[in-house]
Amino acid sequence: MHNEMTGSAATLGHSVRPAEEVGIVHVGLDGRFLRSNLKFSQITGYSAAELQGLTFQEITHPDDCEADVELARRLAEGEIPAYTMEKRYIRKGGDTVWIRLTGSIVRDTQDAPLYFIAVIEDIESRKLAEAQALRWQRLFASAEFGLAQIDIESNTFIEVNPTFARQRGYAPAEMQGLRILDIYPPDRHEEARAKIQAIDKAGHAVFESVHLRKDGSSFPVLVEVTVIKDGEGRPVCRISNCQDITERKKAEGELQRIHEEVARHLAQLETVLDSMTGGLVVADLDGKVYHWNRAALEMHGFASLDECRRDLQDFRGIFEFSGLDGQAVPFENWPIMRILRGEQLKNWEVMLRRIGTDWQRIFAYSGTLARDTNGEPLLAILNIDDITERKRSEEALQRYRLIADNSRDIMLFIRRSDGKIVDANVAAVKAYGYTHEELLNLTILDLRAADTLEQAAIQLSIADDRGLLFETFHRRKDGTTFPVGVSSQGSTINGERMLISVIRDITQRKRYEQELLQAREEAEAASLAKSQFLASMSHEIRTPMTVFLGALEHLLQIDQNPQRRQLLTLADQAARRLHALIDDVLDFSRIEARRLEICAERFELRDSLQKIVGMMSTMAREKQLGLELEVAPAVPVHIVSDQYRLEQVLLNLLSNAIKFTERGRVEVSVQRVGGGLTFRVSDTGIGIPEDKFELIFHAFSQVDSSSTRRFGGTGLGLAISRQLVELLGGKLSVRSRQGAGSEFFFTIPLNAAADREQVPAAGAVRNPAGGHRQ
Ligand code: ADP
Repeated sequence: MHNEMTGSAATLGHSVRPAEEVGIVHVGLDGRFLRSNLKFSQITGYSAAELQGLTFQEITHPDDCEADVELARRLAEGEIPAYTMEKRYIRKGGDTVWIRLTGSIVRDTQDAPLYFIAVIEDIESRKLAEAQALRWQRLFASAEFGLAQIDIESNTFIEVNPTFARQRGYAPAEMQGLRILDIYPPDRHEEARAKIQAIDKAGHAVFESVHLRKDGSSFPVLVEVTVIKDGEGRPVCRISNCQDITERKKAEGELQRIHEEVARHLAQLETVLDSMTGGLVVADLDGKVYHWNRAALEMHGFASLDECRRDLQDFRGIFEFSGLDGQAVPFENWPIMRILRGEQLKNWEVMLRRIGTDWQRIFAYSGTLARDTNGEPLLAILNIDDITERKRSEEALQRYRLIADNSRDIMLFIRRSDGKIVDANVAAVKAYGYTHEELLNLTILDLRAADTLEQAAIQLSIADDRGLLFETFHRRKDGTTFPVGVSSQGSTINGERMLISVIRDITQRKRYEQELLQAREEAEAASLAKSQFLASMSHEIRTPMTVFLGALEHLLQIDQNPQRRQLLTLADQAARRLHALIDDVLDFSRIEARRLEICAERFELRDSLQKIVGMMSTMAREKQLGLELEVAPAVPVHIVSDQYRLEQVLLNLLSNAIKFTERGRVEVSVQRVGGGLTFRVSDTGIGIPEDKFELIFHAFSQVDSSSTRRFGGTGLGLAISRQLVELLGGKLSVRSRQGAGSEFFFTIPLNAAADREQVPAAGAVRNPAGGHRQ
């Protein structure tokens, strides 16, 4: 069989191949396989034995069968000498295999056909490659993106697909041989060269660039280039895949433009929002607060937007809300939360506190949910007004209103320009008898009863300027008038000059004043009458007393009887005390009745002082007290004063000093102090408690009433002395410590004329009191 086969094969001539390269079969005229070689078994999957039970039709693909049968028929009938076809077998197991069959026929000597001889080549892998190539070919030709194959050495196009050519305005064939750089604008050549180098190095690149069309116009492209390498890794060519991204760029540009537009709009919007005086806060539906306008930032004490663009939750640790009644507002009811729930807020007044600080404001919140065109909620928008100041002034206003309306004084607000009454309190309504409305239709001049218009105008002007207190008369609605005390003050309220007048009905006060005045006049008249009575009475008593004293003195001189002399001496002492008392009462009532007059005369001070000390020396000696006189050298020889009254004062002080001193000494001193002379009478006596310093100068007052008995006296001496010193131009004062002595002192002005030792003429001495003395 083998030989036969070989022989048969040799008869096939050009079709002969090495035995195992091709399958060879003998097929009967009925199509039954007669003989087959190993290769054929490999191709079909059937063993030679299995094939002997099969026909070629049975293992031929149904689609190819008819053509094969027909060709076999024609071969058998001698129409064709041989044929070749490509067809599919169905292999054992069911899969198909492509083969090329070359059929011929063996005839006997009578030319009758004996059997077919077929040579079969397995073309499955070739067929596959062809199909793949075809697919690629189709893709290349019909791809919507441009593809180009580029020669690595020359950087020219080997082949481009129709899209690539069309995009650049060429026919595909036209582009073959063009340089890559020809499709780049000149200003991109440098870039393109660099790119090519980079691609060859990396093997792949994706980049955006610009390509030229044949007509010179350009368009943006996205290029992907891959270097194709052979089995040994040598680069063969580059494949470039290019997409025209004009549309994308346009879209990008549009997008960019839209972005910019939106940004511009937002910026404008922000400027508008920031110029609002009210606060505006925007939150999204998730409770993220993402916009605050400037006013809102400032109102809440934030420095920048970054500080407060956060979740509403985050503010819980910073702020707390409460109602104006102090009731805490829970987080769920915070203004934004209420809006997010769909509530509408209209001027909801709430107090906001910054936890842990003194910061606290009252805000009025309004707001609503912003919705899109379909009515879907988008954002919560909150408007905030800081009404802290308004609330405070409202409160203050209420307080003032309360004060004003509870005041018994009339309060009027008067417009400075025309005197119109702008507001009035309840007291005004009561006092004038007009209703509140009626009052507001009047001017202040309608209420005035007393003064002329000019006077009123002047008063208004002064009051406006620096405030004014004055009294006048006002008229009631019924025409009656009443006296008023007005306190008026100018002020600017809401840019308008106003006078605020507080007016008091002083009818009662006027009545009291009148009564008081009358009472005082009556009292004064009575007091004067009393003093005059006393003065004249003392005078009347004094005259007989002088006679009385003279007579006693005379009797003492002539009567030597010791018993009678004792009685006479008693009588004389009593009479002298009485005389002194009358003198004191007389002086005192004269001073009270303003009838004591002071004269100024020039006299030698030292003489006068020595005389006084001489007069008191007996008294001092009796009590074994030292009595000293000290006149400072600076004291002038002559002074101008009322000698008699000065002596009276000093005698008074000296006699007190001696009277109230048991041990030690008494001293009179004079010093020159500035423009005056200071007289001092000091002692080492019982002293005076400090709380009695003022009392002792009052008439009929003594430190200790029981001392009257021990020391005698009326309590008039110091009262008279102080008045006299005052008339002499000084003030009598005391310095003392109980048990440590006292010092009485006063300073009288030194008459300028007496200061010089030039003796002025007596007539030139000023004598303000008239010089007459009783
Ligand atoms: P009189 O001496 O007549 O009582 P005065 O007016 O002269 O009245 O004095 C009033 C009182 O002042 C005295 O009673 C005495 O209590 C007190 N007084 C005056 N001078 C002295 C003095 N030098 N030392 C202590 N007490 C004095």
